[in-house]
Amino acid sequence: MTVGAFPQSAFLARRQRVMDSIGDGVMVLPAAPTLFRAGDSALSYRPDSELFYLTGFIEPDAVLVLRGFAKERRSVLFSRPRDPDAERWTGPRAGPEQARAFVGVDEARSIDRLDQELAGLLEGADRVFFRLGKDARTELLVRSALQAARAKGARRGVGPRGVMDPGVILDELRLRKDPFEVEAIRAAARITVEGFRAAFAHTQAGMGEWEVQAELEAAFRRLGAAGPAFATIVGSGENGCVLHYVDNSRRMEDGDLVLIDAGAEAGMYSGDVSRTAPVSGRFSPEQREVYQVVERARRLALEAIRPGVRISEVHAEVVRSMVHGLCGLGVLSGAEEELLEAGACSAFFPHRTSHWLGLETHDVGDYAQAGESIKLEPGMVLTIEPGLYFAPGPESGAFEGIGIRVEDDVLVTKDGGEVLSAGLPTDPDEVASLIGTGSG
Ligand code: CA
Repeated sequence: MTVGAFPQSAFLARRQRVMDSIGDGVMVLPAAPTLFRAGDSALSYRPDSELFYLTGFIEPDAVLVLRGFAKERRSVLFSRPRDPDAERWTGPRAGPEQARAFVGVDEARSIDRLDQELAGLLEGADRVFFRLGKDARTELLVRSALQAARAKGARRGVGPRGVMDPGVILDELRLRKDPFEVEAIRAAARITVEGFRAAFAHTQAGMGEWEVQAELEAAFRRLGAAGPAFATIVGSGENGCVLHYVDNSRRMEDGDLVLIDAGAEAGMYSGDVSRTAPVSGRFSPEQREVYQVVERARRLALEAIRPGVRISEVHAEVVRSMVHGLCGLGVLSGAEEELLEAGACSAFFPHRTSHWLGLETHDVGDYAQAGESIKLEPGMVLTIEPGLYFAPGPESGAFEGIGIRVEDDVLVTKDGGEVLSAGLPTDPDEVASLIGTGSG
């Protein structure tokens, strides 16, 4: 049986690894809540990443319980019972029986039984892996189980005494993608790239940033994505200097750059790409100079990526390259070593080079452990996104108002890095040539 794009065995293998790790603990993972935009208008439902990672199950009102115990090890999924009336309004439900077959858990129950059964499932556990502050109903049950254990535990010497965050186990697993996940991210990156091509093809002076956004997101949906993984950024002119600009409400002018930072979410996985292009199809000399500094930093970051390299070293490579480039532009002056030491480039490059990418755009996983930056391993997926931003003001000189970011999605392989968003050029002339080819 397959669950979405993944075989059931992939989820089973992940659950086994979790149960191996939690010993005499129990992990309790509730589904994500249904969120509302305003009043009773529900947003389109986004299943919980952790519950999806371990089950592939995407219905709301579900709870997965994993008991790691050697003897009574088991997995139980609580989910909504069938209800023809409700299903008329909100669509079909698997119901516990079908859910069990679909997910391959040992037992399935109606979510209505959670109140009666959760305490029993926690019995004998030394710890509960549960995220506090996420699901009030389940949290109340976990809390009363802990209180009961405290009351009885002194006599029996057993019962859960501590709550741990499930992330201590799941984040580590999710940081290293299995081949199915790599394919899912590859697909999301491919759709993201096509969205950028469509958006740039329809870009021209006089058009609204919102129209570029519409082209991009229309392509995402047309190609099967659920939609954007995060709020699309289309920043033209000075808006390109605002790192998380999402208003997309300005009309683009001749001579502007337009910075797009966007990602499709497909099969629950996220792409995340940025490109910056001249609205008129031609870079000004100043725009091109800055672009080349950013692009050189991107190339060096990519070349630095291979197993065993610390993620901080990739960033250091970019910072070094930026300082060198900013000196070349005449924006910084002095000895490059001293400028590096003083963090001089952070005024123009204020963010990090990378974040993990996966089920979430800023995916889980530590960047450092015990004070040491993490070493890259095959199967990790990260972005590289150098950028330079010359906000309006005298310190920006001839480059005032220029904001440029170039971002790719990179899979760490056995011997380097594979760019999953390579279908979209980074060379300035090639990027510029994408502009306006589809409008007219
Ligand atoms: Ca991004």
